[in-house]
Amino acid sequence: MSLEKYKDKRDFEKTPEPGEKPQKAAGKDQLLFVIHKHFASHLHFDLRLELDGVLKSWAIPKGPTINPKEKKLAVMVEDHPLEYIDFEGVIPDGNYGAGQVYVWDSGTYHALDTLNAKDSSEKLRDGLEKGHLTFILEGKILKGEYALIRLKKASPKDWLLIKKNDSFAKDTDITQVKAPGEIKKKLQ
Ligand code: MN
Repeated sequence: MSLEKYKDKRDFEKTPEPGEKPQKAAGKDQLLFVIHKHFASHLHFDLRLELDGVLKSWAIPKGPTINPKEKKLAVMVEDHPLEYIDFEGVIPDGNYGAGQVYVWDSGTYHALDTLNAKDSSEKLRDGLEKGHLTFILEGKILKGEYALIRLKKASPKDWLLIKKNDSFAKDTDITQVKAPGEIKKKLQ
């Protein structure tokens, strides 16, 4: 897993996004995830899952779902640095991904039937390879079991995000929930 693509696309003199910093010591027992709401040229959400010292990232054009009947296209993008997990701010005009970025949801996650980060990472690595990841999100907004399924080998970047039918599933449009930072900004 490498951050070369991430770094190639950005000028860290011009964007407030995190650059390359020494990575935090490994060994904690919970993997983290974040979902950014990104007001770029097209509003979209970005799902980022911590794995092996980076954030595996997917852009979700229509946003995440808690409805098992929906399948949301999730386009795999370049790995992001771990420090991106709490990034919030404005990427200035003229830079890659220019626009406001809010943390929409965050928390911990783990692969199905695993109890620690090590076992979880092993399963997730395997799932990435096979094009089928199943994991449990423990966020403030998104909770319960999800699957990310790669559409086909011919277009390896295209995945589908699917909510499993569990006690957290509902047929409401969760993308209508605003990011905390978005609400604060409105009140200012
Ligand atoms: Mn984005």
